[in-house]
Amino acid sequence: MAKKQAEFIWFNGNILPWQEAQVHVMTHAIHYGSSVFEGVRAYHTPHKGTCIFRLQEHTQRLLDSAKIYRMTIPYTAEQIDQATKDIIKKNKLKSAYIRPIAFYGDIGMGLQVPFGQETEMVIAAFEWGAYLGEEGLQNGVDAGITSWNRLAANTMPTGAKAGGNYLSSQLISMEARRHGYQEGIALDINGYLSEGAGENLFIIRNGIISTPPRTAAILPGITRDTVITLLAEMGYTVREENIPREALYLADEILMCGTAAEVTPVRSVDGIKVGNGARGPITEKVQSAFFGLFDGTTEDKWGWLTPVE
Ligand code: PMP
Repeated sequence: MAKKQAEFIWFNGNILPWQEAQVHVMTHAIHYGSSVFEGVRAYHTPHKGTCIFRLQEHTQRLLDSAKIYRMTIPYTAEQIDQATKDIIKKNKLKSAYIRPIAFYGDIGMGLQVPFGQETEMVIAAFEWGAYLGEEGLQNGVDAGITSWNRLAANTMPTGAKAGGNYLSSQLISMEARRHGYQEGIALDINGYLSEGAGENLFIIRNGIISTPPRTAAILPGITRDTVITLLAEMGYTVREENIPREALYLADEILMCGTAAEVTPVRSVDGIKVGNGARGPITEKVQSAFFGLFDGTTEDKWGWLTPVE
């Protein structure tokens, strides 16, 4: 039985009790990783009630991931957005982690069969706290560079958020845990910095902020874009450039960001202290601007908050 994390789940257009949202063991996606998904968060805000953060961008990325794999999701962006609001309301959630996923069901075992098939679609929403821990948000996490490289260009597209890609993320994150780190950082096949198991990275030295480019086997994160935008508001420009491994050891500050991890400082890499080993000043500023979007202290100039009501 699936561990129940909320009362209801949205499944192919219907709202079902959590335990009844089941698939067959011959589901194509279980065998071949043929799914595309999103991770989205909703926050309880004092000024606008429960709001979904950057819903339109997440739904667009889901549709983009599906397009790369020639998948047909039988719902429009508007229907997915509405269903996301509906499942949050139905579960009476004030804040939530939301997991929309489109996948091939029990359509047969052939690798060619997906062509022209419609996907199934699920939207789960449940409560989920700080992914790398509350303490990590304050004081930073210890990270390690993994021995696994990220995917090479033209093998599997890292720009698609597809189920199969997360075998790479699992190897990265399991190795990090085994070595006592909270998160793993991966290099691309050229040896340049890529990303964390589920986070993008920013490196700061002497006031210069850089982040790996799209060509460094990253998923171009929506939080990454948020951080770049908030930094621009504060007068900082971010360089998107290839970053050598040693820059991690020499950084004054490093931050990780993603929907699950939000904006989290990194306090050490491979046991080497980042700066003075505490959250740095630029990280603190952008982190407070980020969380300020949800308590109303940062003005949402971009229309990033979609109220559920
Ligand atoms: N990289 C990977 C591999 C991820 O899984 C995620 C989380 N979706 C990110 C980066 C960050 O993306 P976002 O900010 O859109 O959540």
